[in-house]
Amino acid sequence: MGNILCGVDIGGTKLSIALLTAEGRIIDRCFDCDHVTKSECGLTDQIKYNIRLMLKRNNLTESDLSGIGIGCAGHIRFSDGTIITTSNLKGFKGYPLRADVQKDFSVPVTLDNDANAMAFGELKFGAGRGFNNMVFLTVSSGIGAGIIIDNKLYRGITGTAGEFGHTIIEPGSELVCTCGNKGCLMAVACGMALPYLFQKKLKEGKITKLNLPSDFDYSKFDGKLIKQGLEIGDPISREIMLETGRYVGIGIYNIFQALNPQLIVLGGGLLSWGDDFLEKIKSTFYDLARDMMFDHVDIKVSEIGPDSGVIGAASLSLEIC
Ligand SMILES: [Zn+2]
Repeated sequence: MGNILCGVDIGGTKLSIALLTAEGRIIDRCFDCDHVTKSECGLTDQIKYNIRLMLKRNNLTESDLSGIGIGCAGHIRFSDGTIITTSNLKGFKGYPLRADVQKDFSVPVTLDNDANAMAFGELKFGAGRGFNNMVFLTVSSGIGAGIIIDNKLYRGITGTAGEFGHTIIEPGSELVCTCGNKGCLMAVACGMALPYLFQKKLKEGKITKLNLPSDFDYSKFDGKLIKQGLEIGDPISREIMLETGRYVGIGIYNIFQALNPQLIVLGGGLLSWGDDFLEKIKSTFYDLARDMMFDHVDIKVSEIGPDSGVIGAASLSLEIC
């Protein structure tokens, strides 16, 4: 067995596969965007084909790999490598993806939730290096998280631990989450809340500096528009940024009280909102934690960034189970 890592990131818009050195540097990568149209067997064949293609074009063989790690959004049963549910791939409920990929490879294949994979990637190659206990939180269109305890992922009984996005933070909220409950952290504080929040402020009579067309479809209002708004001093965008930062800060405080980690690493597209957003998250958290924080808990931004999905997936082979 070699020391080249292979990561497979099954995202909602693209399937990314990469080969990496043992130090986490990407040697080669490929993308496909038609994977969501494929059957279960079709996706598995696509993954196997692309791995073999990349090995060949880099003059490598399977014996150069230390393992294959696969990250996929949704609920994953880690113990048997089954996709329980995933919103990215229709009809994949209960699909034993790991076993189907493993049939063709002799190196170990690991399948885990994408946020777990990103958390482990940060521990090995990113902001978590040198730490033993950390939580990774990704804030984008949804909120996902991964928990590291004593250098290992904590998965819970099924493998779904770390679903902090579904912790209820505002029980009186009108905002319904993808899980069906109201007031989940990810219902009030990430991309999915933005269309509602922006329209609510317009109805309250607030004025935006964003130049949106009269027939604008507000269901498509997203974090990029807030970023534009922040750049031109739009007051509604700033209010939403600060409210979202406050909710994320409260979410981190709840995580702190449950797990007492050394470090929280934040990733995801909404971190591009800038320093004021990060400062609001931090100040909310540190104000709530006050004198209950006996050892300092650091909050850092992901050091891996946009490649965290595929690098995280590859890092799963390094976990000592
Ligand atoms: Zn929820």
